[in-house]
Amino acid sequence: MTLQNEESTPYTMAEAIAEAKRCLNCKVPQCRKGCPVGNDIPDWIHELSMGNIGNAMNIINAKSNLPAVCGRVCAHERQCEGHCVLGKMGDHINIGRLERFVADFDTSMNLTRKAIPPKTRGKVAVIGSGPSGLTVAGELARQGFNVDIFEMEKRPGGVLTFGIPDYRLPNSVVDSEIEKIKQLGVKFIVGVTVGPDITIDGLFEKGYDAIYIGTGTGSPNAIDIEGGSRRSVIQAIHFLRMASMLNNKVVRRRDVSVKVNSRIYIVGCGNTAMDAARTALRLGAQAVTVVYHRDMENMTALRAEYDEAVAEGVQFLWNSSIKKIRHNNDDGDYLLTMETEGRVYEVSADKVMLAVGSRPASRIVSTTDGIETNDRGYVVTREFPYGMTTRKGVFAGGDVSGSQATVVHAMANARAVAESIASYVDAITMLRKIDQA
Ligand SMILES: Cc1cc2nc3c(=O)[nH]c(=O)nc-3n(C[C@H](O)[C@H](O)[C@H](O)COP(=O)(O)OP(=O)(O)OC[C@H]3O[C@@H](n4cnc5c(N)ncnc54)[C@H](O)[C@@H]3O)c2cc1C
Repeated sequence: MTLQNEESTPYTMAEAIAEAKRCLNCKVPQCRKGCPVGNDIPDWIHELSMGNIGNAMNIINAKSNLPAVCGRVCAHERQCEGHCVLGKMGDHINIGRLERFVADFDTSMNLTRKAIPPKTRGKVAVIGSGPSGLTVAGELARQGFNVDIFEMEKRPGGVLTFGIPDYRLPNSVVDSEIEKIKQLGVKFIVGVTVGPDITIDGLFEKGYDAIYIGTGTGSPNAIDIEGGSRRSVIQAIHFLRMASMLNNKVVRRRDVSVKVNSRIYIVGCGNTAMDAARTALRLGAQAVTVVYHRDMENMTALRAEYDEAVAEGVQFLWNSSIKKIRHNNDDGDYLLTMETEGRVYEVSADKVMLAVGSRPASRIVSTTDGIETNDRGYVVTREFPYGMTTRKGVFAGGDVSGSQATVVHAMANARAVAESIASYVDAITMLRKIDQA
């Protein structure tokens, strides 16, 4: 097990075509209904079955700018593949792997090259380059808008780059998807944090017609564990970020807080917990235990992710919690007081990691008038114009506005908001022209 190598195997061309030929091309495709972006799955699978990979890619691109990502990390079991009629007979089409094949083939052969559309319809600033920001930027650029993405990190991609580990989604794949969005004429301005570095008002002063906030939920939730300190308790998303930076040789091994042979307890049982647990093992942890206050049926992690974690040796304590942490000796060894189904006991540990959800940061809303958030910090958006915040011309989407915290839901929401931004900018442009006439 390594941090770098992608683990699932890709299809060969012959395997992909054979798998595509199994598709029944249903008249009322359930797989498409199961896809939050409404990907025209039977149509591109049909093209693929005839070897027309460029056509397949063009059909996918009509609904998605990130197929190489979706092919790898979408919850296919709950979405497209979960709805495939062949699944009722026990052998659904492997849509995720096929999508990955088409997208990777397109990248490696530079198959579909888009002409950059003339930028005649207005200027939009997108804040954040996760799946939602990339989707809005790609959609609007294809429709002839001038789009600049402002990203606070030096490297774009959001959770795709700094959260999901390389062995599930290689950074090189994310980089290739971003490259394709750049080829549409989108400009990336990295290392700029909107809020402290430039405000929303400052962006409007620079002449943007509309602004999209796609800043995700970067502030991890904390829980109070008696005796917990900065050394004993760390945040899983910070750990994953450091592991990603280690992978890219931006930090050294000793900067990553999980030591070789350490015993790690992770609180929470979603995808972040699974990724942190498997990454800790890859970094040489001796034992990793996930502690969850509910039972297995109620975990938020995908079943496939859980199965992989079990296969790699991650242990699970259901209906359990950590009550107290105390120092055991000077070497940073801790004693955890645990409770499992009413039974209280102690275990030794080196580190506790929290993976109990996250919420939006307030850098933008605290530096801008008129953008309301709800009581959990999510940006409030309107139904009409869809995705507009309580401030005119400022839109929001993806995780920051409370979408379902998956890549494809962030994309689906962003696509709908992009349509709305296009109509809004066209409308204000027309009004401006009337005023000038
Ligand atoms: C560890 C982990 C694993 C996951 N695994 C999966 C999975 O397997 N499948 C799946 O479907 N979903 C998964 N998810 C969820 C999925 O990644 C998110 O739902 C998705 O990334 C949300 O996209 P977004 O664009 O809204 O936000 P993000 O991806 O969070 O992107 C937000 C971007 O905005 C930038 N930003 C924030 N504030 C500012 C600012 N003020 N100025 C400039 N830039 C700013 C950030 O740096 C970031 O690049 C996972 C999440 C995590 C944390």
